[in-house]
Amino acid sequence: MATPTVSTVKYVYSFGGGKAEGNGKMKDTLGGKGAGLAEMTNAGLPVPPGFTIQTEACREYMRGKISAEMDKEMDAALAQLEALQGQKLGAGDNPLLVSVRSGAKFSMPGMMDTILNLGLNDESVKALAERTQNPRFAYDSYRRLIQMFGNVVLDIEKAHFEEVFDGKKKQKKAKLDTDLDARALQEVIVEYKKVVKKHAKIDFPQDSHEQLVMARDAVFRSWQNDRAKHYRRMNNIDDMLGTAVNVQAMVFGNMGETSGTGVGFTRNPATGAKEFWGEFLMNAQGEDVVSGVRTPMNIAKLNEIMPDVYEQLRDITSRMEKHYRDMQDFEFTIQDGKLYMLQTRNGKRTGLAAVRVAIDMVNEGLISKEEAVLRVEPNQVVEFLFPRVDDKALAKDAVLTTGLPASPGAAVGQIVFTADEAVAMLHKGKMKNIILVRGETTPEDIHGMEVAAGILTSRGGMSSHAAVVTRGMGKCCVAGAGEVKVDEKKKEMRVAGQTFKEGDWISLDGTTGRVIKGKAAVLPGDPKDPKLVEFMSWADPYRRLKIRSNADIPRDAKAAQAFGAEGIGLCRTEHMFFAEDRLPHMRTMILANNEKDRRAALKKLLPMQRKDFEGLFKAMDGYGVTIRTIDPPLHEFLPSRESLMVEIAKLEITKPKSPKLKELRTLLERVEELHELNPMLGHRGCRLGITYPEITEMQARAIIEAAVNVSKKGIKVLPEIMIPLTGSLKELRHQTNIVRRVAEEVFKEKGTKVDYMVGTMIELPRAALVADQIAEEAEFFSFGTNDLTQTTFGFSRDDVNKILPIYMKEGLLKQDPFAVLDQEGVGQLVKMGVERGRATRPDLKVGICGEHGGEPESVKFCHRVGLNYVSCSPFRVLTARLAAAQAALEEKGGSGGATK
Ligand code: PEP
Ligand code: MG
Repeated sequence: MATPTVSTVKYVYSFGGGKAEGNGKMKDTLGGKGAGLAEMTNAGLPVPPGFTIQTEACREYMRGKISAEMDKEMDAALAQLEALQGQKLGAGDNPLLVSVRSGAKFSMPGMMDTILNLGLNDESVKALAERTQNPRFAYDSYRRLIQMFGNVVLDIEKAHFEEVFDGKKKQKKAKLDTDLDARALQEVIVEYKKVVKKHAKIDFPQDSHEQLVMARDAVFRSWQNDRAKHYRRMNNIDDMLGTAVNVQAMVFGNMGETSGTGVGFTRNPATGAKEFWGEFLMNAQGEDVVSGVRTPMNIAKLNEIMPDVYEQLRDITSRMEKHYRDMQDFEFTIQDGKLYMLQTRNGKRTGLAAVRVAIDMVNEGLISKEEAVLRVEPNQVVEFLFPRVDDKALAKDAVLTTGLPASPGAAVGQIVFTADEAVAMLHKGKMKNIILVRGETTPEDIHGMEVAAGILTSRGGMSSHAAVVTRGMGKCCVAGAGEVKVDEKKKEMRVAGQTFKEGDWISLDGTTGRVIKGKAAVLPGDPKDPKLVEFMSWADPYRRLKIRSNADIPRDAKAAQAFGAEGIGLCRTEHMFFAEDRLPHMRTMILANNEKDRRAALKKLLPMQRKDFEGLFKAMDGYGVTIRTIDPPLHEFLPSRESLMVEIAKLEITKPKSPKLKELRTLLERVEELHELNPMLGHRGCRLGITYPEITEMQARAIIEAAVNVSKKGIKVLPEIMIPLTGSLKELRHQTNIVRRVAEEVFKEKGTKVDYMVGTMIELPRAALVADQIAEEAEFFSFGTNDLTQTTFGFSRDDVNKILPIYMKEGLLKQDPFAVLDQEGVGQLVKMGVERGRATRPDLKVGICGEHGGEPESVKFCHRVGLNYVSCSPFRVLTARLAAAQAALEEKGGSGGATK
């Protein structure tokens, strides 16, 4: 007999009256906001009471199930809330009104939906007007509810409501929203209801309970809206987490001049400076502050308007900072002179701020150094390397205006006025660097913000959507530049008496807030910033992994060293052949159809290569330098088949007898011979060196000669010669035999020796499988996870972007495996390769040089499987250093908590 299943899930958690059923640790269940509300309630803060419906309910909703148990628990929690408040939802002469908000485990600012003033209907609005003696306030709240409910729950476009509202303003000759009186607002409400009826085919629900159920379900659905999905993809947030729903008694910041609302941080989120930082608006609701519609006042002003409230706010927030031991981001509302805390949580901050706050908190004795190292998101430290506007090169009248320094850095680009246009311009190749200029940004602009180099808004404060989101992205933003007048329809902006059109160039200085005409000169960031240096000096001693860089030329090698690279993990020698003075010799070499001619061309290339390597060895004095023999298919060095055919066809008509035509025909013949259907799986890697051993010979000679020459000057050289794309011991041995023979020849000729190593890349699954055999010959391994990902998934690394977006959208892949190592699959091959290689050669040195070597999660994986080093592009060296330190600390039991 089937036993009825008894649900063990507790769906609803109440908070209020000084105690909460949940607590701050329950982010998985209650979401960040719900956990925070519980924690704040338990800490005795003045939090409006309410309840949180947990994330499991959302997950069930996504699976198409709504449990009766959840409904029952919600009704019970509502009854408890009503009892506590002595009010009834949407009924009686003092009706209870609630807000219904989303709140996922990870904050997703503005991406999901919120409904305020729920509980208002044709009757309760009268009661509210009566009770507050403020009919304007009551009717304004009601019309906001219908608008939000219509948009969020019933999917009616905002524009339909805006049309009604703007029409009424015009009719009444009102300039501001606040110029519409209660009567006018009542007329708006009548029209709004018609909009609802027309578009949703239902009456606006008068039953408050029905409103609540519909709003709750809409918040669940908003987890799946496009912008939320997009945000999750960008921030690597799991699609399956779901959101919690917070239902909370409303307090009103728009009840008149003794009410207000604001947001703030206990420290400056852009710079990290220890200053009470925030903004507020009197007689306003929260969305007025964060949406950027009105530009708010600095929090210091609150001290003049309401000193007691200001003091209480400072006291509460600094207590919360000590309690959470991290910088707090808080929201508050003042209703009739009484302060309520709506939220306090660890604040998002820039990389510059994250480092400074971490250092300061250690100095203040609030956290340990280990915690400080774990606090900073590895991807954020690169902000220290962000470009800065070169003030010295700035023309006198170049600064058009100064807005708020919302997110630091510098951006130079062409103006575009909508997010869609920004994406289109980029994809059409019409613009490369884009500055998105908006009156204000909304969550719908997220795709345009992602592709833009910088964002400029004319409205909104430091906590406006544009500011918060760009800080998270590490992207330059100037917000609230009030003097900039944006006309999206005409596609122009006016500032300082000048008009700028789409495509015009401007520059932004997100560190100072300056908007600059034309292309400002930009200086690179400063890896020697004292705060960064201090912070990294704490992190580095924890790490076990060495950090190297991929660099092909001395300039990049030096840059990498300045960022802390401890060697070169990959020099792709083929890049040296693309230089103007080399390509002709390279082509002659490829075109040669016999060994003699090929050797003659290689002879010309030899001194050039030797010089390159000497430069690298000098730049990396004392550090290992891994040089890879040539890898890509040879036809990459020749003109394309199509362009040759076109040129030949033209000459056949215009100059059929020209010697050039003959030359081109020979070239085409060779190009066709070299043509491959799958070049990535073709004549490349060690296969080139096997079919043309003289290439490997020339490269080995250039490397060893350079090493000897440089070491004679007293510079310590540690060359590591690396063979690409090997799949078997025999292949590798074929190449290492050449390298070792040539090295001996050079030593004999020069009469000196240098130490060197010969090793291989592991880029093919077969190589990982037979790593024990390969290690008989290889003195080191370097995992080429770009190719290893390509060959393990069978995805072409050059074409995968055609399918990847669909895979991500459909949830078939969570992340781009070419950016973040697929630990589950490709990672197994890496782990196995290390184990098998070391079984043969216990001291085998192992590294990684694919793109993953600079990606924090992948770096941490490399630490766990026992690699000796990771190698990444120079600009990711800092990130890799920090990630490697965190990996070591996490192994000891430290936990993350970085707040981006
Ligand atoms: C790799 O395949 O990971 C690698 C580093 O080599 P390349 O990107 O040059 O193919
Ligand atoms: Mg490769």
